[in-house]
Amino acid sequence: MINPSSWEDLQNGDRAAIWHPYASTTDAPEIFPVIAASGVRLELADGRQLIDGMASWWCAIHGYNNPVLNQAVRAQLEDMSHIMFGGLTHPPAVKLAQLLTKLTPTGLDRVFFSDSGSVAVEVALKMAIQYWYSVGQPKKQQLIALRNGYHGDTFGAMSLCDPVTGMHHLFGDVLAKNLFAPAPSCGFDDPCPDREMTAITELLAQHHQEVAAVIVEPVVQGAGGMRFYSPEYLVKLRALCDAFDILLIFDEIATGFGRTGKLFALEHAQVEPDILCLGKALTGGYMTLAATLCNKRISTGISESEAGAFMHGPTFMANPLACATAIASIKLLLSQPWQHTVERIHAELAAGLAPAQDLPNVANVRTLGAIGVIELKQPVDMKTIQPMFVERGVWVRPFGKLVYAMPPFVMGTDDVATLTAAMVDVVASI
Ligand SMILES: *Cc1c(COP(=O)(O)O)cnc(C)c1O
Repeated sequence: MINPSSWEDLQNGDRAAIWHPYASTTDAPEIFPVIAASGVRLELADGRQLIDGMASWWCAIHGYNNPVLNQAVRAQLEDMSHIMFGGLTHPPAVKLAQLLTKLTPTGLDRVFFSDSGSVAVEVALKMAIQYWYSVGQPKKQQLIALRNGYHGDTFGAMSLCDPVTGMHHLFGDVLAKNLFAPAPSCGFDDPCPDREMTAITELLAQHHQEVAAVIVEPVVQGAGGMRFYSPEYLVKLRALCDAFDILLIFDEIATGFGRTGKLFALEHAQVEPDILCLGKALTGGYMTLAATLCNKRISTGISESEAGAFMHGPTFMANPLACATAIASIKLLLSQPWQHTVERIHAELAAGLAPAQDLPNVANVRTLGAIGVIELKQPVDMKTIQPMFVERGVWVRPFGKLVYAMPPFVMGTDDVATLTAAMVDVVASI
């Protein structure tokens, strides 16, 4: 029997039976056992506390063990934890759908719930392709995505991830052959000159008869490189999609719920997509839930066709516990001056990370909203760098050349300072 709180037993038990994300089982890096989490702190099994700079892969915007979210889960648990969604509905789903359609652009008036971000992207792709099938254009099955993009790890989503840094080389022949446009090179604060649109315009001109939709992460390309780009790109992309009659999908799974300083990143551009994917921070990091919103053109296009029904339905669709938590998380966010909080964190990240700019191994330091990024010239060695953060009392999980922070919005000034100092210190010492 393992002692469930002993550091050694947890590490050994883990090593014996668990496969971690993006990891080897035979050459596994050290794994750190966590026994509790509260506020912005993770408590390790040996009693050490880590300031969490990752918000659990960008989800835990209110931090951990939040009394309001805890209460929402408890209250819903007393009513029901789950029921099937085929033929049934329930108050948390109805209320959450009302909230999401109210907060997102007016045309997006229909919500399809699913259980994770990748599935929300699959649903978006199926909506786009089934829409064109329904309106008598079954040839329109291809997608256009951007280089440096990331849309998830399932097959459809994977086929839209950057073809070089994504996993295309491993799964090449099974992946759908989609088309890729260059990543925008105009910075967040810059205008987007027409030449930025030349390549994607040519792709559309050549292939529009086979293309169902263009999918992008608005303003911030996350796991594909933590790149920020000009909102004006989205304005021009919308116009292009309209000109060629192509659907536009925004993947806001990473950017939704305040991360970039707006509730949704599309608000930087005031552009309305035809389909919108939400996930990650939707439940404040408490539970897995995602949503795909679409406009009437798509919902009625599919519904009024011969097939009549949209062909998707996850077992745990609209899980009541997750929906109730999402409602509580969104209300909690909107009940506070969250824009000011994100601005404060932004200023603190920018000031705290600035010293890294002068380091010889650093290519670029950038910040947007509550996102702070140090881009190195060479990829980091995870095995050596990960323990260095833990020794400094912070949890930061770099990837590739990127050492970045996406803290919970509840992180105080002193903790942000500790976090950024540790990031600069570690980068300086590798
Ligand atoms: C994380 C992420 C996904 C995938 O979400 P999962 O919940 O991990 O399946 C899709 N798109 C973007 C932009 C993401 O950041």
